[in-house]
Amino acid sequence: MASVILPSVPSESRPGRFGIYGGRYVPETLMAALVELEHEYDVAKADAAFQTELAGLLKDFAGRPTPLYFCKRLTEQLGGAKIYLKREDLLHTGAHKINNALGQGLLAKRMGKKRIIAETGAGQHGVATATVCALLGMECVIYMGDVDMARQELNVLRMRLLGAEVRGVSSGSKTLKDAISEAMRDWVTNVRTTYYLLGSALGAHPYPTMVRDFHRCISREMKEQIIEKEGRLPTAVIACVGGGSNAIGAFYEFIPNREVRLIGVEAGGCGTELGQHAVRFGGGAPGVLQGTFSYVLQDENGQIAMTHSVSAGLDYASIGPEHAALHDSGRAEYVSQDDAAALDAVVKLSRTEGILPALESAHAVAEALRIAPSMPARDILVVNLSGRGDKDMGILARELNIQGA
Ligand SMILES: *Cc1c(COP(=O)(O)O)cnc(C)c1O
Repeated sequence: MASVILPSVPSESRPGRFGIYGGRYVPETLMAALVELEHEYDVAKADAAFQTELAGLLKDFAGRPTPLYFCKRLTEQLGGAKIYLKREDLLHTGAHKINNALGQGLLAKRMGKKRIIAETGAGQHGVATATVCALLGMECVIYMGDVDMARQELNVLRMRLLGAEVRGVSSGSKTLKDAISEAMRDWVTNVRTTYYLLGSALGAHPYPTMVRDFHRCISREMKEQIIEKEGRLPTAVIACVGGGSNAIGAFYEFIPNREVRLIGVEAGGCGTELGQHAVRFGGGAPGVLQGTFSYVLQDENGQIAMTHSVSAGLDYASIGPEHAALHDSGRAEYVSQDDAAALDAVVKLSRTEGILPALESAHAVAEALRIAPSMPARDILVVNLSGRGDKDMGILARELNIQGA
């Protein structure tokens, strides 16, 4: 159930709030754990040894900094703004999610936890978490909806090979929302021994802030790299928005630079009716889901709506609370691209640049394909390519009718 009751206290200045959004809406049993986590994170953040260890792993284990790549052929074909890709797809495990998994994994170790749980949608966060648990020698349990397990089977196999236990979730829509509920249930039961490694800029405070901080490196590098290559800031930064972690990481350092447009792309799915898409800013309303106050796709009774997207990673009824605030203030713009446009973008980028994007990232590419041609040639678009498409080969083969042996 989502509630549409606005917080009664003006909350602009409270920690964990983004305007009126965010906060901490959890059962009493989790309050102490969240307060402890907030404290441990604040201490770790200020600890040079923690930051040095994280920076070392991001560099040598994950592969940072990621390149900023100029799409020469694509730009020529479209005949408008220059298109650059921030290559998060080149990171170890294939997506941006490893940035956050490493950060929180080190934090869990520092807190003395031996067991890590996580939810996963596309499976990328599960793989990143299982990878970090193997690296740090920790027990790992991943919750994943049955529907997502079927459409992302390769990632299930990868997690199991890495030594994680994958628990299927058969309740509700059997996707990310239900996996998060199961993981929260586990955490309530095992909170003393267990660390909940949340995979997006979602959930109760401090998660949205902490996850954003672990992805800030994306925009920090982008800014340096585009200045080095072009001598100026981009016209726009474009990123797909599921829970919102890759997008907030790609936007964050540009927020004070008001001349840079920030464009978030939601999943338009297969239609505009409730249940056919995951466009929280087009049909959603403020409400509480899974610990945080943000935009939520819900029916008139506050029941969480079903969502659909060809990409499992964008298929979620709510959106990170910082995006809700950026949306309301107008600092960021949010648009949508549907399943068909994302599939077209996969083909276009694959054949023009030799880069096979994840279906999630393809939504951001699709928006660049739409707006670049009508922009002047001196304009610059930076698309955050959040992940690679290998995990989507099953869906792509079916949807695009590509024949195998
Ligand atoms: C999980 C995932 C997303 C969506 O998650 P955000 O938190 O919105 O970034 C986007 N792209 C890829 C490749 C993913 O794996």
